[in-house]
Amino acid sequence: MNILIMGPAGAGKGTISERILKEYEIPHISTGDMLRENVRNNTPLGQEAKGYMEAGKLVPDDVINAMVEDRLQQPDCQKGYLLDGFPRTLVQAEAFTEIAEKIGKPVECVIALDVDFEVLVDRITGRRICSKCGAIYHIPNHVPQVEGVCDECGGEVVQRKDDTVEQLKVRMEEYENNTKPVIDYFEKLGVVKTFDAARPSDEVFGDVKSTLAQFE
Ligand code: AMP
Repeated sequence: MNILIMGPAGAGKGTISERILKEYEIPHISTGDMLRENVRNNTPLGQEAKGYMEAGKLVPDDVINAMVEDRLQQPDCQKGYLLDGFPRTLVQAEAFTEIAEKIGKPVECVIALDVDFEVLVDRITGRRICSKCGAIYHIPNHVPQVEGVCDECGGEVVQRKDDTVEQLKVRMEEYENNTKPVIDYFEKLGVVKTFDAARPSDEVFGDVKSTLAQFE
């Protein structure tokens, strides 16, 4: 199954992705997570990406495209992929279409999560993330059992540097300017399914699951 999941920061891409993975044997490829791992490990790619990420700006297309092309050719993508946070620009969308065709895995479904800005502010400012395994928490809706410690792996639960209202505004602007046209691009290919993601994640996932059943 070849899936993309799209939506602004805080729309629930991570949460819905986790649930999709429990159902299907495909890897979750989040460009944001890959970049953060590179920053943590201080790789040359991480050093290049860090400044853009902390400012809420997009990392240059050629860097991201090369990173994704390499990732999609790993053996665990045999049965498909769930791409999260990519493509984010038209240049990336066009490059992705070419790569996906080249490796014989054209996208089958684009899950577009739709949410108002006010809902996103609450989600983003309350969001906490495990610095080790990436598990997602929310203050006060979903707190770890021991404050600051991940329930899943015992890692440190922290707030992302870019999870502030100011950075959210920048990221929303990026989304409107760069990513909305990407959704339009995939609309033209007839593969987009849009979901009202202001609802509880159980409801959103229920609808996503019914949609994905068509592609099994
Ligand atoms: P995310 O976790 O998806 O919100 O991504 C965090 C940050 O990583 C973004 O604000 C960008 O700086 C960078 N990033 C992630 N994916 C991409 C992408 N496809 N293109 C450019 N920058 C990206």
